Amino acid sequence: KLYNQVQDLKGSIRVYCRVRPFLRGNSNQGSGTVANIDNGKITLITSSKNGKDEHKSFSFNQVFSPSATQEQVFSDMRPLVQSVLDGYNVCIFAYGQTGSGKTFTMSGPDNLTEETLGVNYRALGDLFLISEQRRKTIAYDIGVQMIEIYNEQVRDLLAPDDIRNSSQKGLNVPDANLVPVASTLDVINLMNLGHKNRAVGSTSMNERSSRSHSCLNVHVRAKDLTSGSEFYGCMNLVDLAGSERVDKTDAVGDRLKEAQHINKSLSALGDVLSALANKTAHIPYRNSKLTLLLQDSLGGQAKTLMFVHISPEYDALGETISTLKFAERVS
Ligand code: ADP
Ligand code: MG
Repeated sequence: KLYNQVQDLKGSIRVYCRVRPFLRGNSNQGSGTVANIDNGKITLITSSKNGKDEHKSFSFNQVFSPSATQEQVFSDMRPLVQSVLDGYNVCIFAYGQTGSGKTFTMSGPDNLTEETLGVNYRALGDLFLISEQRRKTIAYDIGVQMIEIYNEQVRDLLAPDDIRNSSQKGLNVPDANLVPVASTLDVINLMNLGHKNRAVGSTSMNERSSRSHSCLNVHVRAKDLTSGSEFYGCMNLVDLAGSERVDKTDAVGDRLKEAQHINKSLSALGDVLSALANKTAHIPYRNSKLTLLLQDSLGGQAKTLMFVHISPEYDALGETISTLKFAERVS
């Protein structure tokens, strides 16, 4: 409740940033770009000339250092997730270059353990737990959809093979399979299925996931048992395509087309969020599939979290700066 009031005062878009740790076996250890993280402020070393460092700082609602655990990260997002059960629509976006830790935050690493479970699982775990606690006063029905947006086309990751692969035009999210779920285990099973379906027909899972947006849409129907009134909340958890600029001189054919679609949809998302942040009259939802599909969960009473991810390595500096500029623009 308090959180919602604070949100209403501050506007509905929050921005978080998370810095991935150096990966084991990386020879770049030590030459990182992050000089300091303190109280929502991150300071980068942008250049180092004649022994003198240049710095640039960015401020967000929250900045997580490489040592932040999955649990710590989720605990900051908890009120947002819980507001879905009060009838709010919520969008959480993971943004950043490929390899910066988007999937780690949203889902977790490949070999999942209790500790490394990502936001998706923890968010649904919370929804189940609280709906159970409230069951004497409110009856909740929770269902999920999983879709992928690739080259501005939507694929239903929970549909049977034939349907999923036959739809040439793509489909609308409302038409995607909505599967009822009652436990975190149900969700894990569904996400495994979606994951498997996503990889079908692509050369490698990692390549595919870096070039498409993947969305887990959680729908909550509620009925107040005392008054009989019904309400609805929706949570959209989006692992965005990699934000890295693809060199136009390198990319040809399919790669170039993919890159253009990604650039277009990420900048359309940035345009929508910055229009909302600036309270502009016209919100350009129609410029990409992603913003069009999520229109009801962006703006109005809806709550948005833009969660940007950066890699600490020096050779990622250019992408890191453009990621933080993107984040600054929407906050
Ligand atoms: P992205 O989805 O942005 O391409 P990944 O989530 O796949 O990036 O992360 C790249 C690699 O770094 C993976 O091996 C992942 O497990 C690891 N990684 C990312 N973030 C963290 C973190 N916070 N702690 C430990 N390992 C991480
Ligand atoms: Mg990923």
